Amino acid sequence: MAASDSVKTAGEEIPARVDLFVIGAGSGGVRAARIAAEAGARVMVAEEYRVGGTCVIRGCIPKKLMAYAAHFAEDFADARGYGWSFDSPPRFDWAALKAAVQREVDRLNGLYIETLTKAGVVIVSERARLRDAHRVELVSSGRLVEADTILIATGGTPVRPKHLPGGEYGITSNEIFHLPRFPGRLVVVGAGYIAVEFASIMHGLGAAVTLVYRRRPILRGFDMDLRLRLQEALAARGIDIVLEDNVASLACRADGALDVTLDSGARLIADEVLFAIGRRPNTTGLGLEAAGVECAPDGAIVVDDDSRTNVESIWAVGDVTNRVNLTPVAIREGHAFALTRFHGRPTRVDHRDVPSAVFSLPPLATVGMSEEDALDELGEVDVYQSGFRPLRHTLAGREERSFVKVIVDPATDRVLGMHMLGPDAPEIIQGFATAMKMGLKKADLDRTTALHPTSAEEFVLLRAPEHRRA
Ligand code: FAD
Ligand code: NDP
Repeated sequence: MAASDSVKTAGEEIPARVDLFVIGAGSGGVRAARIAAEAGARVMVAEEYRVGGTCVIRGCIPKKLMAYAAHFAEDFADARGYGWSFDSPPRFDWAALKAAVQREVDRLNGLYIETLTKAGVVIVSERARLRDAHRVELVSSGRLVEADTILIATGGTPVRPKHLPGGEYGITSNEIFHLPRFPGRLVVVGAGYIAVEFASIMHGLGAAVTLVYRRRPILRGFDMDLRLRLQEALAARGIDIVLEDNVASLACRADGALDVTLDSGARLIADEVLFAIGRRPNTTGLGLEAAGVECAPDGAIVVDDDSRTNVESIWAVGDVTNRVNLTPVAIREGHAFALTRFHGRPTRVDHRDVPSAVFSLPPLATVGMSEEDALDELGEVDVYQSGFRPLRHTLAGREERSFVKVIVDPATDRVLGMHMLGPDAPEIIQGFATAMKMGLKKADLDRTTALHPTSAEEFVLLRAPEHRRA
């Protein structure tokens, strides 16, 4: 039997009662369902789109594959400095990339279904909503399933602009993976993770990209040095960055292109406009009121440190709770829930010092506090930083510089934050994130021998601090 045959559709028989009903088969829901089933629980999962959720189907994985694709453009250019030559310039085929990415997404989707099925989880391919504290309704078939425990793991959904004339002509990250034609001219609205990543990816693949951001600089919330340096690097690569402005309207032209008018009155022409203006928790129409589940004003489900809602039988994990909206966090929350509720092992997720990366070109990565947050909390910090040209860029003739920064508490020598911009930053920061969890001190970095020649060694060679006060 193929894995997909084991997904129950509206007409098929399903149990009327289970121990755990999970709404949403994304990062958090899948992990929770599997771990609960391993404890012997009878588990059912409802998924309205595709098993795997945002990360696997239309987030991290297809995005990262596209970032690899975009990276080849600079690899081809750099190769000449290393003695390579090409008889004709390399050509890029959007249809071929899309198809390859979707094949990998399909493969992963199949693996997720197989994993759940092997664990004994019943998967129902339908939208679900709460009827009350113990009953879930499968929306299209109207069937009711009773459950001792219900886990809401419905994730988030892209925000679309409200009341923007012509806003319906824009796309979100949900659509960008499936565009029938490669957009030669792309306007990206916003300057968070998704905006910056897709501006980089589409520019790398050959689009003329304009990023429009209502404030300055890009990537609010990250360390200011990284924000300014990445903004400069993106502009130097050729992305047009329009700051302190916003899209006022879109209009469709006779040739199918879009006229984009900004608040300042400036006008742009684009083949696509990507709105990357945030995501909101997927709680609309979920029956939360019927079950008495409390929500925050932004629609997020309110949970305690164990991911339990105000209703005893209902728990929630992942983006729908709007805590730290990253896949590894949703997975840990789902796992901790299942251990706590079904294995008799109370487990909590530590949301501090979660590493994260923006997979722009060049990428940045970070763990712990930015200098600004550290100064807010402590009033004074020691800052160690270094900007350098990676060795690989020398023969390539590339001027772009990398940057590392370490924030230290002068009173205790504890490392509070580590930040990097440049090739391999996400791979490097993942390793240091472990050290930070172990209570890394600046003295530990100092007594670590460098691994030469690497970019990562810069982190253990930083010597002269700048003492900064709030
Ligand atoms: P999801 O994975 O979103 O799963 C929720 C599931 O519930 C979905 O499959 C949905 O269809 C289903 N659902 C919703 N409502 C219902 C209903 N009523 N009935 C049945 N099913 C329902 N994070 C990273 O860590 N690294 C990255 O590089 C990264 N890149 C990203 C790139 C993009 C473009 C996006 C959009 C997100 C990215 N993220 C990344 C964030 C990451 O995808 C999310 O944090 C993660 O998927 C959250 O997992 P979740 O289980 O909470 O929800
Ligand atoms: P973010 O919240 O990161 O960024 C939203 C951006 O849109 C901000 O620049 C914000 O500006 C701007 N914005 C918000 N509202 C408007 C508006 N009305 N008009 C114009 N601009 C607006 O959201 P994303 O959509 O980029 O990503 C959502 C989440 O998904 C991330 O926070 C992250 O948790 C996760 N993610 C993680 C990735 C990774 O780990 N690499 C990759 C992709 C997503 P302002 O700063 O002014 O508020």
